[in-house]
Amino acid sequence: MGHSKYIFVTGGVTSSLGKGIISASLAKLLQARGYKVTIQKLDPYINIDPGTLNPYEHGECFVTDDGAETDLDLGHYERFLNILTTQDNNVTTGKVYQTVINKERRGDFLGKTVQIIPHITDEIKRRIKLLGTRHNFDIVITEIGGTVGDIESLPYIEAVRQMKWEKERDIICIHLTFVPYLSTSGELKTKPTQHSVKMLLETGVQPDILVLRTQKPLTDDIRRKVALFCNVAQEAVIESIDVSTIYEVPLLMLKEKLDVIALKKLKLPLREQPMLKQWKDFVNNVKNPEFDVKIALIGKYVELADAYKSIIEATIHAGAVNFCKVQVGLIHSEHIDENNVKELLQPYKGILIAPGFGHRGIDGKIIAARYARENNIPFFGICLGLQCAVIEFARSILHYKDAHSTEMNPTTTHPVIDLMEAQKEIINKGHTMRLGAYSCNIKRKSKTFEAYRKLKISERHRHRYEINNAYLAEFEKAGMIASGINPDTNLVEIIEIPNHKWFVGDQFHPEYKSTVLNPHQLFIRFIKAALME
Ligand code: GLN
Repeated sequence: MGHSKYIFVTGGVTSSLGKGIISASLAKLLQARGYKVTIQKLDPYINIDPGTLNPYEHGECFVTDDGAETDLDLGHYERFLNILTTQDNNVTTGKVYQTVINKERRGDFLGKTVQIIPHITDEIKRRIKLLGTRHNFDIVITEIGGTVGDIESLPYIEAVRQMKWEKERDIICIHLTFVPYLSTSGELKTKPTQHSVKMLLETGVQPDILVLRTQKPLTDDIRRKVALFCNVAQEAVIESIDVSTIYEVPLLMLKEKLDVIALKKLKLPLREQPMLKQWKDFVNNVKNPEFDVKIALIGKYVELADAYKSIIEATIHAGAVNFCKVQVGLIHSEHIDENNVKELLQPYKGILIAPGFGHRGIDGKIIAARYARENNIPFFGICLGLQCAVIEFARSILHYKDAHSTEMNPTTTHPVIDLMEAQKEIINKGHTMRLGAYSCNIKRKSKTFEAYRKLKISERHRHRYEINNAYLAEFEKAGMIASGINPDTNLVEIIEIPNHKWFVGDQFHPEYKSTVLNPHQLFIRFIKAALME
């Protein structure tokens, strides 16, 4: 196990309590004290990765530089820590079983019966320790998805129990629960927490720290009671009160001394006191904006804002840089038509068309791209958003009435967006897109260069279709230029309309790389253009 220490974060009572944010906040504090920290997510579902999941199921699929399609919590980890995560940071039951079954087929188990304990739990432990051994982190925080008591998370909790038993000094467990407030009696109730800790104890894991999510401040009495019933020190009962922005949580955890208690329990020195000056300035800008700007985010999964998590967070980062609150209006692309587009989009100073797949809602996105272009409204198209802008331009300006992407219309006579050659033979859906970081050369005379101030960039991709280079000369002649080109494949990665206030589309996903300490320049410029409207 080397010298790495491991912190496990489990959840009880209910899902959606913010384990990811608590993990990221603790990691932030430990990082600010000078430790090399990373966070890993264990997801108990059987899919190999969330790449094949509908966003309605688990929200956005986050993509890492090394091309892993992962849980959206990894986005939080990167945004908070300003470090890269990798394939190894997200483990699913599907991946664990696939490895074990492949080994069994190879005969690696030498005739033994293959069982959940020890074979599955060994594979889980191997994947947890990998971050310590392969990547040399001082502290690895591992968040276990789901809620304690779920059948599917049992092997993970068992792996935690075994690791604690094997190396007690190097491992702690933080359990996050919920303390409901009953308004009729005016009381916070601890019983669900007691029950959830009991359930964890039944699986052999004693939590070292309890984080209690609450709407009201915890009294000393409540902390004492929880400590007594759950076998934890009173100082290890931590309050996590609701706040208006997730970025305030590290500051709350600092006040509650979560980092100090975790380090003490891991027998690690406290090192320096976290300063977090830049972080605090950022939170201050988020909470006290000077301006306001409304942006329309057009997509087809708008009923679930988590489907656009990284985009929404990137607008918050860019808003803080511009001292403004960005109000993101989620607009369903299926609700947009020629007759209502003006009425629907008029309140917004900027239009962002989201990534997506498939035919549903495509017409509304194309209509919105046209509205932005014709009315000189700042426009940002991401992946499918860029493709919509290209289709619209081909139809309206090049007069190719049936121009389309072959994803939506395989028989179009003008396939301005077409499948990449390398994609044509692929049958499997899982992990077969163009994924992860690719480099791109930027044209000096462009809005993109004004944003990046660099001629060579690297951004993350997740798509199968591309701008068809056969049409490029026509597009450029008519006023839509390619301002970013992949140097190895010549694929167009960025388009712009120079004769427009701010009209930029990217084949990649800039939102994945926007962090608190490093907000993405394209989002900053887009918001700035919208602010000047
Ligand atoms: N469906 C499009 C493609 O596969 C766009 C993908 C996306 O927006 N991420 O190319």
